[in-house]
Parts: sequence; C-alpha cells; structure tokens
Amino acid sequence: ACLDRIRQHDGAVGAFLKVMDEKALAQAAEVDRKRKAGEELGLLAGVPVAVKDLLCTEGEVTTCASKMLKDFVPPYSSTVIKKLQAADAVIVGKTNMDEFAMGGSTENSALGKTRNPWNTDLVPGGSSGGAAACLAAQMVPLSIGTDTGGSIRQPASFCGVVGLKPTYGRVSRFGLIAFASSLDQIGPMARTAEDTALFLEAMSGHDPQDSTSANVPCPLFSKTVDQPLEGLRIGLVKEHFGEGLDGDVEKAVREAVSVYEKLGAKVVDISLPHNKYGIATYYIIAPSEASSNLARFDGAHYGHRCDEATMLEELQKEKDALVAAGDELGVKRMDTPLIRMYRQSRAEGFGPEVKRRIMLGTYTLSAGYYDAFYLKALKVRRLIREDYDKAFKTVDLIVGPTAPNPAFAAGSKTNDPLAMYLEDLYTVTANLAGIPAMSIPCGFTSGGLPVGLHMQAPALEEDRLLRAAYMFQ
Ligand code: GLN
Repeated sequence: ACLDRIRQHDGAVGAFLKVMDEKALAQAAEVDRKRKAGEELGLLAGVPVAVKDLLCTEGEVTTCASKMLKDFVPPYSSTVIKKLQAADAVIVGKTNMDEFAMGGSTENSALGKTRNPWNTDLVPGGSSGGAAACLAAQMVPLSIGTDTGGSIRQPASFCGVVGLKPTYGRVSRFGLIAFASSLDQIGPMARTAEDTALFLEAMSGHDPQDSTSANVPCPLFSKTVDQPLEGLRIGLVKEHFGEGLDGDVEKAVREAVSVYEKLGAKVVDISLPHNKYGIATYYIIAPSEASSNLARFDGAHYGHRCDEATMLEELQKEKDALVAAGDELGVKRMDTPLIRMYRQSRAEGFGPEVKRRIMLGTYTLSAGYYDAFYLKALKVRRLIREDYDKAFKTVDLIVGPTAPNPAFAAGSKTNDPLAMYLEDLYTVTANLAGIPAMSIPCGFTSGGLPVGLHMQAPALEEDRLLRAAYMFQ
C-alpha cells in the first residue's frame, strides 16, 4: 500500500530520491514468514520506514543529495539502519534533503525538488524536507531525519507532522555522513507522539562505534508515552515572542499553551538571555566543523572525481601559455596535478551553499581568526547551555514556536542566505546545548498551513517531551 501511495503521489511531492521496491517487498515477505513460523518479531515488525539519504545503507547509493556523492555506495550500514533492520522494520526508500543537510527548505538538494504536500507551491522546510513530506502525504508512517540546527523540527512544523531531536548522544551517529559532529543528531519523525516514542525506542542506545554515544540505559518510551504529566511547569521564553515572529504562528502557539493550562499545567515566564546569540554562534560552529568534515571529499578517497584526462590537458595548456609568456614564477606557482584534481573535483561536486559553509568555516578556524570567532563561539555556546540549566530549575519544559513562520514559497529565500538562516532562530540553541527538543503540530494559520509547537527538555528527558506531546494530541 505504501509503495502504491508513493507511486501515486511522489511525482508531485518529490520526497524520495530512491524507492527500494524490491528490497522492501522482500523484507516485508521475510517478516511475514517469521510471523507465520511463530518466530519472535521486532518492535517495528513490518512497519515501512523512509530514511534520509545521509545514513549509510550497505549496497544502496547514499548521496547526501550532493553531486559529490551521487554514485557513492557505502560498504556498510549505519548503526541506526542496522537497529531498524533488527527491529524488523521495512525500509522503503531514501528521502531528499538539502545537500549535506545544509539548509532550511530542501532547495539546496542537487538531486531534486521536494514540495510541501499541503501546497505544492511551498517548500517542505529542511534539511529533512523529504522526510517530513513523505509523512504528510501519508506515504509512510515513520521516517528518519537528522537535526544539526533544526532540520527535523522545522520541516516537521512546515508539514504538520511530529519530529524529535534527541539528546546529543542518545542515538548513535555511526554511519551518518557528518555535517557538524558536535551538533548532529539522528531522530524520529512520525505523525503521532505514540509512533515517535516507539520509533525512538527502536533507534536509541549506546554504541561503542560512536565515541560520543551516551552510555545510559534507554527508557521504554512506548510504555510511558500515554502517562499524563502531573504538575507540569511550562516556561515561555520572553525572547521568543519578539521581532520576526509571524502573527498567525504566535496565535496558534499561545492557544496551544492555553490547552496545557486547561490540562493543569502552570505557565511561567522565563528568560534565556543568550538566546539572541544562538544564530551567530551556530553559524560559526557548524560551518567550522563542516569545513573540517568535508575535507575528506577530495576526489581520491570518496565521491566525485573530475575528468582527469581533460584536467591534465588543461594544465598542460596553462603551462604552455605561461612558458610562452616567459612567466617562470607563474609556472612555479601552478597547481600540481593532484592539487588540481582535488580543487576541480570539489568545485564540480559541491553546490553553492556547501561551498559557502566551507569558506566560512575555513575562515573562522584559520590562524588569527580562530580566537576571535571559533573560540568565542565556544564560550557563548557554554553560556547558552548555562541559561538552559538555570531555566530548568524552575520549569519542566520550555515551549514556543518551532519556526518564526509557516512554510514559505519555493524560491522566495534562495537568494538570501541570511533570511534562510533565520529559519533556525528558535531551534539551534537546543543543538548547541545538546538537549532534546520536539515539534508537534499545534494548529493552523489563517491560510490553513500547519504550525509547529516547539518543546525543549533537559538532557535525556525525551520521555517528558513525548508524554507532553501525547497529552496535547
Ligand atoms: N538550517 C540549518 C542549517 O542550514 C540547520 C540544518 C540542520 O539541522 N541540518 O545549517
């Protein structure tokens, strides 16, 4: 049924980069066989799952929506994929995203366009845009996203689905193609809190193959999700309701807060004073780490390699011209063939946003600028974390808008990177602090577009987020 639904609607939505029909049917048949034979079945037995195309899947092209990796077939599967397979899930396909997860609209994909199923003139959000769109269009019930600065939560908000960014370390990143390693987390996207709980339970847990994976027991989220939270204290952040927030979004969020009040929650006004430095801090740390992580794509070890024959011919021509002009210094300064291969492969393989991040990151890490930018950003990151620690002494959850606006028109922000970066206004601080955060659908704008409610909890308290989400739904 899922494959039929994808065939019917994905032409208009473009959520998938690849659908693995045959493998999915074979996996489903295997689950059926197990069931008939009375064998023990996993937590997600027979449930179709979509996977964002930056999780390595053995034997299947894993592209990161980049020309750089468009033919890359990983020789191994990520831990999360292995866990899903062990839970008897059926992996149906790989979803579209912003190239290397850099973006907020999925328009940075080099491999295809994804539209918002609520209105196909609009973007689905990003970078996990395909992951959110395939849920909203009811093609699959579960889909995996990743979130470095909001990439699970903002598309969930734009598409009217649920998305949870776990605590840093809760889910293994082994086999995830890295963007910014100290911020990246893999997380569940679904249509209900219950499904999200089950899905998170299946993918979480300590993994010796990821040195940043938290060695803590994984709670059985699916067993507690329906237990209401008593005496809940909700913090509303003063700084979240200022400049830049769309009026309809604010209204839907405030109404959602009043639902919690009716359910017995107490609302407390709080301040996160360093919140206003979130975007600036994130857009130094994330590109710095990205510039380092993406250095491995050199045309030799991984990914796209330029056409060497043409390159060598061009180098020879350049050299001939310099020699003819008697420019000896120019000849000395010429690229070696290896450097030229590296340079040209990267020039061809990476898209404009990825190049922008590499340049930003290389700059902020370079000698002379490191202290002024990168080191300072690390200090501010610490202050942001301390704000949260303080706030969570007086409240159990922090609640607000997921994104400053609902889904916007395709093309409307593509020439304005700063406007696109502001999409992450409310989400990046959770990544900087490493805490879990979740977006749930909480209402609609006057134009009928979904609005997401953002909830943040202290580290390792995903259970609290899920239960609060269940209460609301
Ligand atoms: N939109 C943010 C960025 O472009 C967040 C991306 C993400 O979470 N992967 O960096």
